[in-house]
Amino acid sequence: MTNKYMFFIANWKMYGGLNSLNSLHKVVKFFKNFKKKKFIKIIYCPPSTLIRPMLKKLKNSNIEVGAQNCHESNYYGAYTGSINSSMLKNVGAKYVIIGHSENRQAGENDRLINRKIKSAIKAGLKVIFCIGETSKEKRKKITKQVLSKQIKFGLANINKKNKIIVAYEPVWSIGTGLIPKPKELYETISFIKKKIKDYKILYGGSVNPKNIHSLTSIDNIDGYLVGGASQDTKKFIDIIKKTYN
Ligand code: PEP
Repeated sequence: MTNKYMFFIANWKMYGGLNSLNSLHKVVKFFKNFKKKKFIKIIYCPPSTLIRPMLKKLKNSNIEVGAQNCHESNYYGAYTGSINSSMLKNVGAKYVIIGHSENRQAGENDRLINRKIKSAIKAGLKVIFCIGETSKEKRKKITKQVLSKQIKFGLANINKKNKIIVAYEPVWSIGTGLIPKPKELYETISFIKKKIKDYKILYGGSVNPKNIHSLTSIDNIDGYLVGGASQDTKKFIDIIKKTYN
């Protein structure tokens, strides 16, 4: 249980059609009546196809909407299949996830991620910057080196603490049901906080209503990036409720 200001960010990944928005009114109602609502920020990051219709459903709710990635350029261009940060801003997104391990695994490197972060900030978006080690890197005990490198190059020449939220997402934890041991997670979050002072640091990786109590015992986490469980409205609401009692 916590009494801190916390972020709850839903990453829907490549899931969802218009009918997936039908249960959002439950989150809106929950948030409206939630006693601790001043303590929380809820952000939904659906596929880009759903940004606009989702915003309609969330109108006047104070729940915000972001995207899951963007192109590195701020300008229109011949990049078939891509969407840039200015276009996301234009349809109402306020945030964008950059550096998610699923995109790193698909070939995005730290320097490209750095350019994307700069373009997103230039377009007026806030960035949810993901970092995390793979299971192999964890076994080799090089987590700190990996995180240091991702931070050093990903945030090179960027000094916009209030525009960036960092999400620590161990790759081995994403979608696996595994989460780090509390002591280990506390230490890793502390390590990141020491490296980049004054940034909000979230945890992401298999957060669900069953493990949220053990996560809330770690008092240096500023919120959660929730993948699978965020697609189920009841589970997402439960995660938020259980964080506060
Ligand atoms: C994610 O993909 O950002 C994530 C945290 O996924 P999951 O919660 O499903 O592990």
